[in-house]
Amino acid sequence: MAEALQAVKGMNDVLPPDSARWEWFEEKIRVLMARYAYCNVRTPIIEPTALFVRGLGEVTDIVEREMYSFEDAMNGDRLTLRPENTAGVVRAMNQHSFLREGGRRLFYIGPMFRHERPQRGRYRQFHQVGAEALGFAGPDVDAEQILMCRGLWRDLGLSEGRDVRLELNSLGQAGERQTHRQALIAHFEAHVGALDEDARRRLYSNPLRILDSKNPALQPVLDAAPKLLDYLGPESLAHFAAVRAVLDAVGCEYRINPRLVRGLDYYNLTVFEWITDRLGAQGTVCGGGRYDTLIEQLGGKPAPGVGWAIGIERLLLLLQEVGIAPAIPGPTVYAIVPAPRALAPAMAVLEALRQAGVTVAMNAGFGSIKSQFKRADASGARYALIFGDDELARGEAACKDLRDPASAQRCLPLADAAHWAKELRNA
Ligand code: ATP
Ligand code: MG
Repeated sequence: MAEALQAVKGMNDVLPPDSARWEWFEEKIRVLMARYAYCNVRTPIIEPTALFVRGLGEVTDIVEREMYSFEDAMNGDRLTLRPENTAGVVRAMNQHSFLREGGRRLFYIGPMFRHERPQRGRYRQFHQVGAEALGFAGPDVDAEQILMCRGLWRDLGLSEGRDVRLELNSLGQAGERQTHRQALIAHFEAHVGALDEDARRRLYSNPLRILDSKNPALQPVLDAAPKLLDYLGPESLAHFAAVRAVLDAVGCEYRINPRLVRGLDYYNLTVFEWITDRLGAQGTVCGGGRYDTLIEQLGGKPAPGVGWAIGIERLLLLLQEVGIAPAIPGPTVYAIVPAPRALAPAMAVLEALRQAGVTVAMNAGFGSIKSQFKRADASGARYALIFGDDELARGEAACKDLRDPASAQRCLPLADAAHWAKELRNA
């Protein structure tokens, strides 16, 4: 036998019955997005490498070491499998002049690719759902986006506080970060002996990112570092206060985390993360914030933006951890066809039922009636329809209510499938 091929390391198959959980989750997303009037966008999973280098920043984890980049063998173009999708959405909006008539509220669901060490909650192909509001400068939209996530936690049955909590910070504007940066570098220079290799490497290229380090040995130095919030001017502070005022009015709890800086260069003002303590080190289920200079940086007419992304695998792991399992309905009808000669008349009836909107499962040729009944039961179907020889000879099929074992078997005339369809659908 030929050697069996395997999926690429860190890239997963989503198979039944697990795929039904994904569909359930995606349906929740579609309902949520409709409630907030966000429209779906679908952009390519491959983009020019320059989009991410320019958009995310050269000294970021993603651009430095996580991107799947390659040369197009046909023409030598530098391409990258998208590691995130804010840059792609902005590219598309710019390319199609979509912000000409005002702001846009958009969402996407799809695969992202990062070359990281695979572990629970961290994969090389993973999936994100993301929301982006482009062209809106006001703090109301920052708050709206945070509240959308909160609405989703509720829809999914997650408890705010116990299962997920909100962390909030403001990164101010570039000028404010510049002043803070000087103070930060001075602080780290004074403690250079306590820094690890990664921090030393970033000391002058991206000192803010050092605050994001998870290295326990660094924590005292990071905790003592100058806080960006203390360097914000009145406008940035007012924006932050306005976001908080909405959250307070709605009763959305949060913790201000002065060390929350996010991993990409495009953020300014509000940044936030939804965190869980139930998944160990992979505890961030959602991250987002404002990016008021990204659109211009990627060649568009200057316009503000704000967005978030949820890691779907991580969120599904969290739901599992908490014990939230969607009720996945079985088919309405499971057809039992004991003999090949019954197949044609049975399938004619089943086709009529399916056309009328009844969900029907059938596995012809799967053994004895007894084993077919077992399968029917395991499928979660409400009814078994039995196309036995005796019934067919009378122009009927037998119908058994699998969820009510005490009920009598009924006979249904084959000629009257449309009538049953109504009855079965309403049962
Ligand atoms: P982390 O700090 O865990 O590496 P990140 O800051 O790199 O996360 P973002 O770029 O903000 O993550 O992406 C948003 C969300 O996407 C994360 O909060 C997480 O839930 C999910 N995510 C990011 N990278 C991965 C990955 N390699 N595998 C699975 N999910 C991921
Ligand atoms: Mg990361």
